[in-house]
Amino acid sequence: MTASPRDIAIVGAGIIGICAAANLAEAGYAVTVYDRTGICEETSSGNAAALAFSDVLPLAQKGMLRNLPKWMSDPLGPLSIPPAYLPQLAPWLWRFWRAGSAGRYETSLAAQAALMGLAETEWLGLMERSGTRHMLRENGSLELYESEAEFRAALPGWAARDRFGIGYRHVDGEALAELQPGLARSIVKGTFVPGWKTVSDPRDLGKAIWAYAQSLGARFVAATVARLEPSTDGVTIHHADGRRSVAGKAILAAGAWSHLLAGRLGDRIPLETERGYNTTLPRGAFDLKRQLIFSGHGFVVTPLDAGVRVGGAVELGGLKRPPNYARSRALLAKAARLLPGLKTEGGREWMGYRPSLPDSMPVIGGSDRSQNLFYAFGHGHLGLTQAAATGRLIRDLVSGQTPPIDLRPFSPHRF
Ligand SMILES: Cc1cc2nc3c(=O)[nH]c(=O)nc-3n(C[C@H](O)[C@H](O)[C@H](O)COP(=O)(O)OP(=O)(O)OC[C@H]3O[C@@H](n4cnc5c(N)ncnc54)[C@H](O)[C@@H]3O)c2cc1C
Repeated sequence: MTASPRDIAIVGAGIIGICAAANLAEAGYAVTVYDRTGICEETSSGNAAALAFSDVLPLAQKGMLRNLPKWMSDPLGPLSIPPAYLPQLAPWLWRFWRAGSAGRYETSLAAQAALMGLAETEWLGLMERSGTRHMLRENGSLELYESEAEFRAALPGWAARDRFGIGYRHVDGEALAELQPGLARSIVKGTFVPGWKTVSDPRDLGKAIWAYAQSLGARFVAATVARLEPSTDGVTIHHADGRRSVAGKAILAAGAWSHLLAGRLGDRIPLETERGYNTTLPRGAFDLKRQLIFSGHGFVVTPLDAGVRVGGAVELGGLKRPPNYARSRALLAKAARLLPGLKTEGGREWMGYRPSLPDSMPVIGGSDRSQNLFYAFGHGHLGLTQAAATGRLIRDLVSGQTPPIDLRPFSPHRF
């Protein structure tokens, strides 16, 4: 079996794989996407729908470490680690902790800001080209604080965003009530970010981008990929059922499962999953003006076409444990306290696997094992936001073009 260098295999049909497929199909490559489920049926289906272009702060710094003791003391709080998983997680946690140190933090901040600049341009461009612009909502976000102390603690993070020209406005009193009526009286201040965007539904958007890629010739193959085997002139894709396919080049974009396939090639990448939960309430559950962010509680409330999505939280619990939906219910109870008019009945619960690297930055780059194999995974909390940019960068790498941003901070070999 031989393949042309213009035959591209993409493993993973989440939003990252789909945006890579669209970009490569636009450039005239013959794209085949392999996935064990379907198009955007896993983590990319149920996320909070934010195009969080201003979210440039590495997580290790951004409040997570500050809030750690409070969060960990609540078994259903915003951050949890099943004790039995702790030994396996320890090396990742150590790297996460180190990523918060001053020098590393600055490097990550600059790299994320560069990627976010590209993320916005690339999403707007891809939406125009694929006819999906009507799915974009441009009404900003509102971050909310329950005390002056919580607000003051957030100020250094906002000051860091100043350096990258990210616009925001602190509000209280009537201005706050105007941006979102019906907030609990305990909420004393907010920060409005006008440039923050959301989409009408992340799963629908993924499927619409795929329809566009398909119209340019991209194909889907339902398969679990067991192993990738690069050679000098291509990559063999070994399916779990024994079948094989070949491609000139392959992109590994299998979300939180990517390290399993990379590891089989000898590329050891410290990917973990931050499991997240939400509940999607029916339309009319609350008159939401824009996405609301409760950073102190680790969740957001998003207006979607389908209704109101309440969710977030981080559970560092690996890929095998069953979901614990008591978490979604705890988030819903908190949301009902902060938004007293919220109707909490009739919701649909969901859990997804954020693919997370300890420095909060994705892996976008070529494997050392082969010039024909590229990695695009580990986008953590920001996969939807950074998908179009990642797709564009993968197209540049595959076609040998110079990427518009420095990709060294995203190298698979930085660990
Ligand atoms: C609660 C929550 C809220 C979030 N909110 C936001 C948000 O508002 N904005 C934002 O930007 N991001 C958000 N995210 C993060 C975002 O959802 C993820 O970063 C993104 O979906 C990851 O996309 P992906 O394509 O890398 O992975 P996935 O969507 O998980 O896709 C990977 C695909 O690979 C397939 N696969 C894996 N292994 C194999 C194999 N061996 N063979 C075949 N197929 C395989 C899987 O079936 C899957 O379809 C949120 C995440 C969660 C959990």
